[in-house]
Amino acid sequence: MERVYLDNAATTKIRPEVLDVMVRAYSEFGNPSSVHREGQHAKKAIEEARDIIAFQLNCDPSEIVFTSGGTESDNWALKCAAGGHVITSKIEHPAVLRSCEMLEKHGVRVTYLPVDKHGFVSPDSLEKALTPDTSLVSIMMANNEIGTIEPIRELCGIAHEHGVLFHTDAVQAVGSVSVDIRNLGVDLLSFSAHKFYGPKGIGGLYLKKGTEISSFLNGGSQEFHMRAGTQNVQGILGMAEALRLAVDEQEESISHISFLRDLLKKTLIEKIPQVLFHGDESSAHPGIVNLYVPGMDGEKTLLLLDVKGFACSGGAACSSKDSSVSHVLTAIGAADEEAKNSLRISMGVFNKVEDIFSFVSAFSSVLNS
Ligand code: PLP
Repeated sequence: MERVYLDNAATTKIRPEVLDVMVRAYSEFGNPSSVHREGQHAKKAIEEARDIIAFQLNCDPSEIVFTSGGTESDNWALKCAAGGHVITSKIEHPAVLRSCEMLEKHGVRVTYLPVDKHGFVSPDSLEKALTPDTSLVSIMMANNEIGTIEPIRELCGIAHEHGVLFHTDAVQAVGSVSVDIRNLGVDLLSFSAHKFYGPKGIGGLYLKKGTEISSFLNGGSQEFHMRAGTQNVQGILGMAEALRLAVDEQEESISHISFLRDLLKKTLIEKIPQVLFHGDESSAHPGIVNLYVPGMDGEKTLLLLDVKGFACSGGAACSSKDSSVSHVLTAIGAADEEAKNSLRISMGVFNKVEDIFSFVSAFSSVLNS
């Protein structure tokens, strides 16, 4: 039986073209910091990758620093750019929320902005929360559980009017929807390759020229003296190829994936009329559907679907093992029962129309079992 993977917000399958680039890169064994030919060859390759990534995201190559992924980028932005008072939202990824808790232990005040029933942060609430000692605002671009895309450009504009730095966790956005850094105006932006059909354990932090931030990892002088450690050459090359492909094909991908999303919702409503959806389609990640059926046992449903060959997730996959009630669903006003038992179905470029029909049929048979 062929399995159906519907958990693309947790991670995506690496594209064969990306794997090819990485396999070839494994023969580049030089250390990019070495002065000999082998080292300089590897250095040239990562600088070309940096150029590609900067071009796709619309920023300068010198503003991209490679990290080990979204979690490191978020930790860095929060822990090294913040002081005094920080503003974030209640629906951030744990990489941001746990970093804020750490800041609080060190005396930083943190305001967690509420969101409305669709998951939107209101620009008005940000304006009101800013104080003279606010150093950083960190609001995610696309939410990983319900897909809501926040009005980053507007929120960033408000922070800047008060002279405050703005970070966005764009891990779920980069590759999936258009991300134009200059247009957004942000100072810091986190991204991660495994969300756009690239390898795991590699990502980056965009650092606008002139942004005051200390380095997070100390050691060698790699990455403009900002992030010590020998670069993950294969990962960086794979990430650049993955982003190039994702952006080149973005229009078709969005139309394919949102077609699947609409089909999934329509078919579900026909078969299970009491189904409820979370989030807002007018500004959302095209592939994330978060749903609840009254009375459904989320964990049991997930396990039975897995046995039937379907991989999906309950809430935030990266942390689903340690949290039974979704903080995101609680923040949008869902009751505990709903916040505990909802499912996230996330579609990607490799999904087909048949996947949707077979999922709906398996899901309704699980619900009736
Ligand atoms: N931020 C968001 C919104 C995410 O969805 C994730 C991954 O699940 C992360 C951060 C962490 O990224 P990584 O898995 O690259 O550490």
